[in-house]
Amino acid sequence: MQGTVVREIGPCMPAKGPKKRVLQVRLTSICNMHCRFCVRERTSDGREWREGIGATVMTVDAATELLSRSMGSPDPPEGVEITGPGEPLLDASTYLFLRRLHGMYPQLFLSVRTNGILLQERIGDLIRSGCRGVTLSLNAATMNAGERIFESVIFRGRRYEGSDAARIILQQQWTGLEQAIEAGLAVSVQIARIARVNEEEIDRIASLAEMIGAERVSVTDFDGRIA
Ligand code: SF4
Repeated sequence: MQGTVVREIGPCMPAKGPKKRVLQVRLTSICNMHCRFCVRERTSDGREWREGIGATVMTVDAATELLSRSMGSPDPPEGVEITGPGEPLLDASTYLFLRRLHGMYPQLFLSVRTNGILLQERIGDLIRSGCRGVTLSLNAATMNAGERIFESVIFRGRRYEGSDAARIILQQQWTGLEQAIEAGLAVSVQIARIARVNEEEIDRIASLAEMIGAERVSVTDFDGRIA
């Protein structure tokens, strides 16, 4: 298999610990799909959080302040990634933050981590906001794994479950991957290896993603539960 495969830990969110010199911020906890292995609960302030990750959702102002402080450090970040858990492409704060940072620090490499459901329709907004890269969470290539991983999706105002949800998610993710690459975004793919669920598809997902043009493919081991 061509390309770089890096073992990391975690499902749709970044591997433990921020990447070197990339500041990772979380601006939303809302997601438009439900993966069976994603455990989200309500905190006392009503926000959702995902087990093991915490509820640290920042406002755009707080995230800007954090970045400004980091930029003044001896080893300032070279990039900023807007991450989950939660779907950044759903939230207006993502685009506001990107535009703000692009204006303040045009040298920064700005990127977004996404489940891909809205990728096709938001590519233009991302590029216009100064985003240069996307990390796509891609955990299935076939309906077999898709139906076991995805429980539901909200798509164009409707909620879908079961095989309908899996079909829509697979379609949106794989088409989104192609279109983001065609549009000139640097696209990385992160695959969560879920024991006894998608293990047999990992090589296939990685090969397909590389063939389509993903710059980097990472495989993370996820030891969570399937409800
Ligand atoms: S895409 Fe991420 S935040 Fe959304 S349900 Fe799946 S694991 Fe959870």
